Amino acid sequence: CGIVGYVGHRPALDVVLDGLRRLEYRGYDSAGVAVLDGDGGLAVERKAGRLTNLEDRLDEVGREAFAGTAGMGHTRWATHGAPVDRNSHPHRDATGRVAVVHNGIIENFAALRAELEGRGVEMSSDTDTETTAHLIAFAYAEGDTKGDLAASVRCVVRRLEGAFTLVVTHADEPDTVVAARRSSPLVVGVGEGETFVASDVSAFIEHTREAVELGQDQVVVIDRSGYAVTDFDGGTADATPFTVNWDL
Ligand code: GLU
Repeated sequence: CGIVGYVGHRPALDVVLDGLRRLEYRGYDSAGVAVLDGDGGLAVERKAGRLTNLEDRLDEVGREAFAGTAGMGHTRWATHGAPVDRNSHPHRDATGRVAVVHNGIIENFAALRAELEGRGVEMSSDTDTETTAHLIAFAYAEGDTKGDLAASVRCVVRRLEGAFTLVVTHADEPDTVVAARRSSPLVVGVGEGETFVASDVSAFIEHTREAVELGQDQVVVIDRSGYAVTDFDGGTADATPFTVNWDL
């Protein structure tokens, strides 16, 4: 129900948890975070229930693995699969190198799941979302999209039906976060040496008021120096910059 992604100079975990707290008013049943450590590591924790459950869990496992300055977080409003830990986002591929958070519904997930199972993939959740993590991992591993996360995401979102905001990280690309949207909100926040993506500006408004609203069927890549928007085919696309001049 809420999404925050970040690449910058602050500890991503703090930025993401603060952002999720600001989105709490929308309601949710589970929460999770992923942080890239800049050294090829991707740390993930997720937990059913309130954000405080996730924070308790992070204290339990220790926050050392979550010290990086790029990452993302999610609050879930379950549509496919019960609100339990294993269905909470982020979802990962089998190698744990790709992580995905998603708001919305992938209408054709059953066909995608059957295709993946045909390739020997074992699902670890009951969600529609998990299919996208495996598909993106396959796209990243082979063909024209090999080694290119943005191209891999574009290739996969073209196959999805339904409404979605997706945010994706890959351990091999520790300085970027990729996001895509169709019929579900996604805004970029542009700061000094830091860039945000979120389902709602309230997630980053305490850090920057320079925002960009993504249009229908667009993909954005963020890094520390800014953002780049394309359509689902990789062609140029216009998103709309605006300044948030209201208080929340
Ligand atoms: N359909 C996804 C799920 O049930 C995402 C739900 C959401 O928007 O939070 O896990």
